Amino acid sequence: MTRVDVHDPRATMRVMALPGPGERLRLERRPIPQPGPHDVLVRITACGVCRTDLHVQDNELPDIAWPIVPGHQAVGEVVAAGARSVVPVGTRVGIAWLAGTCGACEFCATGRENLCDHARFNGYHVDGGFADYMLADSRFCFPLSVATPAAESTPLLCAGLIGFRTLRLAGDATRIGIYGFGSAAHIITQVARYESRQVFAFTRPGDTSAQDFARRCGADWAGDSHQPSPAPLDAALIFAPDGALVPKALRDLKKGGTVVCGGIHMSDIPSFPYTDLWQERQIRSVANLTREDGHAFMALADRVSIRPQITTYSLESANDALDDLRDGAINGTAVLVMD
Ligand SMILES: [Zn+2]
Ligand SMILES: [Zn+2]
Repeated sequence: MTRVDVHDPRATMRVMALPGPGERLRLERRPIPQPGPHDVLVRITACGVCRTDLHVQDNELPDIAWPIVPGHQAVGEVVAAGARSVVPVGTRVGIAWLAGTCGACEFCATGRENLCDHARFNGYHVDGGFADYMLADSRFCFPLSVATPAAESTPLLCAGLIGFRTLRLAGDATRIGIYGFGSAAHIITQVARYESRQVFAFTRPGDTSAQDFARRCGADWAGDSHQPSPAPLDAALIFAPDGALVPKALRDLKKGGTVVCGGIHMSDIPSFPYTDLWQERQIRSVANLTREDGHAFMALADRVSIRPQITTYSLESANDALDDLRDGAINGTAVLVMD
């Protein structure tokens, strides 16, 4: 991509936009937006593709701001900043799911901005990173080290962060089951191993490629999701959007164990006998992230030296990336690379 003068009002950028529910991404040229007082304009280097982008395409989330540019795992360089930006021009930043919060509701006031009543999300309520440039509120960006290639940092911003929050909600569980071995799972397995936990990976039945991948990432055991766990689990982390895994995971738990559902959308959970929940087993979900999660996880990721596995696509090939993710044809994370 040739450098353009971002302050030139005639300058344009490429975006891949979803025009409406169920439609495919369409390449458009749009004017480069100008930052508001708290904003930064970021020249995107790479943007990860997430299962949530499929949920947006499929209209499975409420109140999507159609037409929308998806993408909430963007890494790039700040090329212009508003007067009140807290991030200077020239900084490499990561832009994650949380675009902004109200700062005033009861959740914001009690350290739970991930549950903010008026939260806005990138690639859902505001245009995201499937583009050459993107605006972001500087207060919600994460400065990143330039030591890691930008494309390899992108999976940390959603898959890694949501996986991190999911793992933290499992407490100090030492034996963990992970259901659905995709982007989040392959990152969080590396964190769990770093923390000396055991990881049992459950994949779609017969998906030996994902099972091999799980073992390569450090899982102690990998097998089909309908198999009983070879040993009782302290916690189960569910990343696959399949509600039937919830009662299955409950049955794999020890007494007092927890099932943590890490996805934003899941098919209905079938009913199950109360005895499966009895003995203080619990089921809970994870929603979004706080900025504190982001800063804590980025620091941890540097210590762990997480190596995400990525498959790269050009911006114009974003539809192929979404299709491959939908088909389960990617081990690790699909990443759009802009240059
Ligand atoms: Zn709020
Ligand atoms: Zn995501």
